Amino acid sequence: MASIYFTVCCFLFTILMNIVYFSKKRNNNLDNYIYPKMLVVNLLSLFAEILSFFCVKFESFNLYSLVLKIMLTFINLWLMLYFLYFFLTYKILIKNKEIVIKKEIKKFYLSFIAVTFLTLLLPIKFKQEGDLLMPYGVAVNIYYLMALFWILGIIAIAFKCKKIDKTSKYLSLIVFGLFSFLALLVTFIKPELLLVNAVLSYTTFIMFFTIENPDLKLIKQLNIAKDQAEKANRAKTEFLSNMSHEIRTPLNAIVGFSECLIDNPNKEQVKEYAQDIVDASHNLLEIVNGILDISKIEANKMEIIEKEYNPLEVFNSLSKLILPRIKEKPIELKCHFPKDLPGVLQGDVGKLKQIVLNLLTNAAKYTDKGEIIFNVTCVNKIDKKKCLLYITVRDTGRGIKEENLKNIFRKFERIDEDKNTTIEGTGLGLAITKSITEMMGGKISVYSKYQEGSIFRIFLVQKIVSMEPVKIEEEIIKIDKDAYQNKKILIVDDSKINIKVAVHLLKDYNFNIATAESGDEAIIKVKDENFDLIFMDIMMPRKNGIETLHELKELEDFHIPVVALTADAIEGNEEKYLNAGFSDYLTKPIDRDHLHKIINKYLGGKK
Ligand code: ADP
Repeated sequence: MASIYFTVCCFLFTILMNIVYFSKKRNNNLDNYIYPKMLVVNLLSLFAEILSFFCVKFESFNLYSLVLKIMLTFINLWLMLYFLYFFLTYKILIKNKEIVIKKEIKKFYLSFIAVTFLTLLLPIKFKQEGDLLMPYGVAVNIYYLMALFWILGIIAIAFKCKKIDKTSKYLSLIVFGLFSFLALLVTFIKPELLLVNAVLSYTTFIMFFTIENPDLKLIKQLNIAKDQAEKANRAKTEFLSNMSHEIRTPLNAIVGFSECLIDNPNKEQVKEYAQDIVDASHNLLEIVNGILDISKIEANKMEIIEKEYNPLEVFNSLSKLILPRIKEKPIELKCHFPKDLPGVLQGDVGKLKQIVLNLLTNAAKYTDKGEIIFNVTCVNKIDKKKCLLYITVRDTGRGIKEENLKNIFRKFERIDEDKNTTIEGTGLGLAITKSITEMMGGKISVYSKYQEGSIFRIFLVQKIVSMEPVKIEEEIIKIDKDAYQNKKILIVDDSKINIKVAVHLLKDYNFNIATAESGDEAIIKVKDENFDLIFMDIMMPRKNGIETLHELKELEDFHIPVVALTADAIEGNEEKYLNAGFSDYLTKPIDRDHLHKIINKYLGGKK
């Protein structure tokens, strides 16, 4: 009689466990898919054991045979679930396979139902051993064999999957092994004690506290999120200090050389300083553009703007653009562009230039001697509609250590920071390059050997417009001063410096230039005088460019073309300004070529 107390205790305890488990909402994961089933099966198995005890007590042997079969079925079912628990964990950990849990389990359920159904039909025999009624026969053997199968399966997985021992799942396995061994030992000495279900209960209990504790998991997840947030914060602070250094360097050059220009009578020196100022300004612009690009990428505002272009011309011009970066370094730049490149392709040529130029610039920056090989191949022209551009930039520079390779495409990541101090850079270039390449449907990869060199590869699909090389005409700026005489221009900008720059850029045209520092002043001037073209800044205090334009348009007989001037350089904004009523738009800093095209378009000068 005493032996049943143990089972009853386990039964009551398992009821409590069920209540505790099912009273909380659980995450929908593998653990919580299998574990509740184990809890319920364990409870039912214990219940069958208590029932079997009373069957023997009241000598109802037919019922005892059935209840015993049910109990053995539940024990086996529990073992199968426990096996599945490890089996599926193993699949996820080792094979890294996103599996459909329910589908996997279904196969096991079906075979289990088939075997147990057969076994339920087979009779169980009993023999009296002292006070005990020992079951035997084919049915009992099948149950034992099944149990052995699951246990061996679990042991095999535990040996095969070393990663499981890094998870807390391993603990329940140890408890299970230990308790099974103890139970065997005790049953050997005192066979009347019923301990199998108790072992299952303990294991289920341990599983709850080691694996199934969602609070622990939650805290762990929160800690990970907190670490990530702190890391991101540190990266931002580091970035700001880096950035201020990067911005200050060209600014320092600009301020310093500008001061040198004042009152400097030496013409040669003035020229040299002015060139240094231009170089530093371009540097500064590159940094600001990088930040703008990253923020556009993060805000999902980067747009792909497709245009037709001649790939050979683009790659040739890129190879020339990189020459000043190589400077006097003993580096040979070798370019290989195949003759059979399609004549005209369609794609975002601006971004293509940006990504290739970034790879070339890095090659020039991080190589001291040797060579840079810029190679373009065009494959897969079979259907004549699309082709795959395969662009490689190989250098014999300092190379990148293997452990750093995985980080170089991360933003703000600069490798060998101490070595880099003399090389300008923000750690944004490759992050932008990767994002843009992927945005265009391409791929970028890198291979590098430390101290030997690197190869960056870009794969990009572009549309073929024409296989034949079509000369895309380059417009050469040639200003015919007489063509613009008597033309009147109004520049509207709240910043005096910007007005000064615009006036300077327009001085070669012999225009009659008027300026206004606010929208209201512009409106007054337009009412008083006749203009042929207006350049209007967008961001102005009180009345912005768009509001001013709308007021101008309300004036009687107003048909002067108005060009928007903006430093808000988000691509695709052209449409926004055209929709607002502007005739065209120019980004600041003003590009001479673009400005010339606009002037030609609206004032009809000669090219
Ligand atoms: P930046 O050049 O502004 O530092 P990038 O994102 O372009 O930023 O590059 C990230 C880092 O990758 C660089 O700091 C540099 O350490 C490394 N790197 C990039 N290109 C090369 C190259 N061709 N050779 C060696 N190292 C490179």
